[in-house]
Amino acid sequence: MRPSDTGGSYGWPLKPFDRQHPVRGYLNDPRIPDAAHKSFHFGVDICGADGTAVFAVEGGVAHLQSPTVVAVVSSIAPRTFGYWHILPAVIHHQAVARHQLLGHIAPGWGHVHFAEKGRGPHRNPLRRGALEPFEDFQPPTVAKLAFSRRGKAVPRTAVTETVDILVEAFDTPALPAPAPFKGMPVAPVRLRWRVLHRGTLVVPWRTPINLGPAKLPDSQFERVYAPGTRQNHPNHPGRLRFYLAHAWDSRRHADGRYLLEGSMRYCGYFSASSVSARSRSSPASRTRARPRRRIHHRRLQSSS
Ligand SMILES: [Zn+2]
Repeated sequence: MRPSDTGGSYGWPLKPFDRQHPVRGYLNDPRIPDAAHKSFHFGVDICGADGTAVFAVEGGVAHLQSPTVVAVVSSIAPRTFGYWHILPAVIHHQAVARHQLLGHIAPGWGHVHFAEKGRGPHRNPLRRGALEPFEDFQPPTVAKLAFSRRGKAVPRTAVTETVDILVEAFDTPALPAPAPFKGMPVAPVRLRWRVLHRGTLVVPWRTPINLGPAKLPDSQFERVYAPGTRQNHPNHPGRLRFYLAHAWDSRRHADGRYLLEGSMRYCGYFSASSVSARSRSSPASRTRARPRRRIHHRRLQSSS
């Protein structure tokens, strides 16, 4: 997408405008206030102490959408910026200039939720060519590989037939967020995976998770996030579990030892009943060796 299609780049809504600020919530993070309400986060949470002044990133007309939400309909491009959890310093339908004061972060929030919307779904303000400057050199962490079938965990030493492939993975904010959200996980932009068998590619790269460009429809929440996912709360880090695949058919592959590689690092091994293969010095060797036994159906074993 060319910058001209979406209105071009803009600075930060907090001072200094031309310097990167910590962001503790990313687009498409899980938001789970209760079991009945699961959604993708529709903006970014920019850290700022309560009372911090919040400014318009682009000129336009202010709309007071609630006592603590100011939206500015841009006069430059077909887009609207949302500034949430602020006590407004502008009135409804007031014309505002770029860098004009909009309000102050409301007590107890510790951040401004900042969102950008065009004609379609909410966009990621951290995409290239939007909120600038922004650099993120933190690679995502792929923490744990798991399998399940019809919602029930399948032991990684007994994977058969069709299974869902799950991975616990997260990104680390580009700049550390202050307490009580210090060190908390955020959604990675992209997760991909492939499978190798004796060094040969048997399942090419697949990218089932792309949380980067725009907010996903909430109807997809439970296809993207797996059970066990939790959102961040003060002093309680969340947990991000993703489906890499739904109903993946392990029977299409011959018995043997396989490596599932995800993103930029190894995710884990799985194999048929070959115990000796797992005793080599490899990540798989961390698994306890199990007695060899004859199997009559395909079994996959894994470790991470
Ligand atoms: Zn937010």
